[in-house]
Amino acid sequence: MGEQTTEGPDHGVGGAFTDALDTRLIGAGRRHNGSALAPVIWASSTFETATVEEGRGMALSVGATEFYSRYGNPTVNDFEEAIAELEGAEAGRAFGSGMGAVAAVVLGLCSRGDHVVAQRQLYAGTQMLLQAVCPRFGIEVTFVDGTDPEAWREAVQPGRTMLLLAETPANPRLDIVDLVALGAIKGPMKVVDSTFATPLGQRPLEHGCDLVVHSATKCLGGHNDVTLGVVAGSRELIDWIWGFAVLQGAVASPHEAAGGLRGLRTLGVRLRHQSDSAAHIAESLEPDERIAEVRYPGLASHPQHELALRQMDLMGGLVTFDLAGGFEAGRHLVESTRICRLATSLGGPETLVTHPASTTHVNLLPEELEAAGIAPGTIRMSVGLEDPGDIVSDLLAALA
Ligand SMILES: *Cc1c(COP(=O)(O)O)cnc(C)c1O
Repeated sequence: MGEQTTEGPDHGVGGAFTDALDTRLIGAGRRHNGSALAPVIWASSTFETATVEEGRGMALSVGATEFYSRYGNPTVNDFEEAIAELEGAEAGRAFGSGMGAVAAVVLGLCSRGDHVVAQRQLYAGTQMLLQAVCPRFGIEVTFVDGTDPEAWREAVQPGRTMLLLAETPANPRLDIVDLVALGAIKGPMKVVDSTFATPLGQRPLEHGCDLVVHSATKCLGGHNDVTLGVVAGSRELIDWIWGFAVLQGAVASPHEAAGGLRGLRTLGVRLRHQSDSAAHIAESLEPDERIAEVRYPGLASHPQHELALRQMDLMGGLVTFDLAGGFEAGRHLVESTRICRLATSLGGPETLVTHPASTTHVNLLPEELEAAGIAPGTIRMSVGLEDPGDIVSDLLAALA
């Protein structure tokens, strides 16, 4: 029998069952499913209420799920509860994209005069939000080297710094932020973009961080067919963020949330396969002299390999490497592969390659590129579900 009437996630408090994450991936987010096994799509934008009193109660409450779908929606709520359960959070809020979630966290929690500390190596959209949008609203941002715990601590302005915004593993060089050190910093709220890791790879809230953000468009959705974001944390913080989100309007569609739930059911097998393949590919590429450097947290040569082993259960499907031949070699590679497809995004079944210097980061100045850890010949690869040997052969053929 399903768990559609449970009160909420069972975290094993008081000697109850504590299911493994793989089991939770299957069981989570079924509250509004009735007897259906697949996610039920509550496509309604609005809901009938029996009395004025009931309607008013929902209009005045936070995140009512059967009132008006900008406030909340049963399918979306199932996805939110699933993510909260997997992250060990009290609550979650889904958005129409990862950027919807990042923007709601920053603009929902910060006001004019507040200060944010973020790492330099970040998803380009987050970087633009912090660099171009925040200053317009009087929110000051300091960028630090995310791999240096001391740099985070030193950048905090007591009483003024609202948020520490980390991303780990980070775009695109897969730098790792020490979550225990970050979580121990007192004062500001610690927010972690955990898109590359998923809750199977790491759980930032267990290390003292306050909010975890995902672009569920990537590994969680997992099939390149949903655009979706989510943030999870304490009920108090999520309710506060909801107060902004309901006016921001970047709500998740129930169709996308159903795709997110569908993705969660297979996340375990997908991410393990992708992690194994990525490790094989990284090891195969490392000795090749046409490649200047291979970055993968699971490689002993990764500068933070030990830290990655400590805080990550799975190293994920992202591999980044620098071609010795620079910009032209990078462009040639991504246009020459047969199996690896030239496309942005990550975490889906197809192996994708990008050349950030000519695509996602094309707007950055040379010094900004360097600060973001992007060399002219840097290739970011999202390893899919194809045979890893075929992917290696494809890359080697394209390098020739
Ligand atoms: C893709 C991505 C985002 C933004 O998510 P969208 O769903 O594209 O809005 C944020 N952070 C990271 C790390 C990402 O990869």
